Amino acid sequence: MTSAEIRQKFLDFFASKGHQIVPSAPIVVKDDPTLMFINSGMAPFKDYFLGNKPAPSPRVADTQKCLRVSGKHNDLEEVGYDTYHHTMFEMLGNWSFGDYFKQDALKWSWELLTEVYQLPKDRLYVSVFQGDGSENLPMDQEAYDIWKTMISEDRILMGNKKDNFWEMGDTGPCGPCSEIHVDLRSEEEVAKISGKDLVNNDHPQVVEIWNNVFMEFNRLADGSLVKLPAQHVDTGMGFERLCMAIQGKQSNYDTDVFQPIIQFIAKEAGVTYGENEKTDIAIRVIADHIRAISFTIADGQLPSNNKAGYVIRRILRRAVRYSFTYLNFKKPFLNTIVPVLADQLASVFPELKAQQAFVQRVIEEEENAFLRTLENGLKRLDSLQETFKSNGNTIDGKTAFELYDTFGFPLDLTALIAKENCLTIDEAGFTVEMEQQKNRSRNAAQTEQGDWIVLQPDVETEWVAYDAESVEARIVRYRQV
Ligand code: ATP
Ligand code: MG
Ligand code: MG
Ligand code: MG
Repeated sequence: MTSAEIRQKFLDFFASKGHQIVPSAPIVVKDDPTLMFINSGMAPFKDYFLGNKPAPSPRVADTQKCLRVSGKHNDLEEVGYDTYHHTMFEMLGNWSFGDYFKQDALKWSWELLTEVYQLPKDRLYVSVFQGDGSENLPMDQEAYDIWKTMISEDRILMGNKKDNFWEMGDTGPCGPCSEIHVDLRSEEEVAKISGKDLVNNDHPQVVEIWNNVFMEFNRLADGSLVKLPAQHVDTGMGFERLCMAIQGKQSNYDTDVFQPIIQFIAKEAGVTYGENEKTDIAIRVIADHIRAISFTIADGQLPSNNKAGYVIRRILRRAVRYSFTYLNFKKPFLNTIVPVLADQLASVFPELKAQQAFVQRVIEEEENAFLRTLENGLKRLDSLQETFKSNGNTIDGKTAFELYDTFGFPLDLTALIAKENCLTIDEAGFTVEMEQQKNRSRNAAQTEQGDWIVLQPDVETEWVAYDAESVEARIVRYRQV
């Protein structure tokens, strides 16, 4: 089954169960001070759960573009090293807004996975909330009893509050959740183990694919829980992980979601994917990061030195450094992947195809700018290796700041290079330097104030709405931020 078929079958299945299929919301969040990027399928529907807005239909399903690089969910460090965490990924989801509840939700997940997708039942595990020990929050017996009719009891695992209880925030809707995990270990490996070892004890090849959240309660400001007047279901399934399971692969990167990009990068770099650990990691990181960068720019968030824009610039520079150091790309290269990605996903996310030329230009300009200073920054780091070693294997705050300020190295990029060289960074020292610079420019700004004040462009101007404006005109605006 191709990834396109897998996605379509999900949507068709839930349409057949009376769900309205809606398009993905933009990955970039505007007008919400608590969230920069959509990080779960549920995020665009927050208002329906809070009762601020009526839902378009009591049953909705979609695939949502998500980004997990900041805040509560930050998977950046995992990317490229493990096989199943991405920065940008698609989350398939089905929702009940005050309509069906646990019984239908769990039955349908099981039906979809085992009958439509034909995943073997003896390769699946489920988890149920075990309760927090108080009467207030007991074990989710209802979910347990439903699962018991479908899966053998030794495959139902108990989960704690961290993994199996979902809360929107300190207050608001919350409730237990039930996860589904898939065992990707080889036949031989599974044949060798038995009993307790068969169970998923955080084995790296036993991977969470789907989470069913049951919003039953509202947490009040005093911490107490009251039953919600209407109960909701919110589910999220990692699309790339699902493809890995169905296509019988050991890594998301081996599915047809990533292979076209991976093969393109490998060919351009003149290497073979799968032959060298270092270049493989670089290829995976780039394949991942280009998706995050392209989709956020297409949805209106330009790279910049501020907030959400800086998150994108950081990811971009991280990708440039991997391509420069490990794949020997000394000229802009990342931008040439954009057409491959846009073509691949044109039928699902036409917004990228529609803006391909603009997205590619922005990335190329970003690459050019960083490549001008990257090499010198790396040389500077190299020349100081002995100093760092004698300094307790630490990169001092002053140097980290110099790299940031003069060579454009985001702190997390310097941290990454430090880690590769068994060094750490004096982050506190970096912060001190950063504050001092801010004070210097604040003072400078004050002394410059004359008869009029030129207003700083605010973050709004970093966001470029898609309209009929020409690529050139938009590039000019981008250069101004
Ligand atoms: P994990 O424990 O693997 O980090 P999670 O519990 O943080 O996953 P949820 O918040 O429950 O994930 O999101 C629902 C689903 O989205 C997960 O079951 C998983 O399939 C998928 N998912 C979560 N994070 C990522 C990611 N960084 N990349 C790809 N898929 C992801
Ligand atoms: Mg996670
Ligand atoms: Mg989890
Ligand atoms: Mg989860």
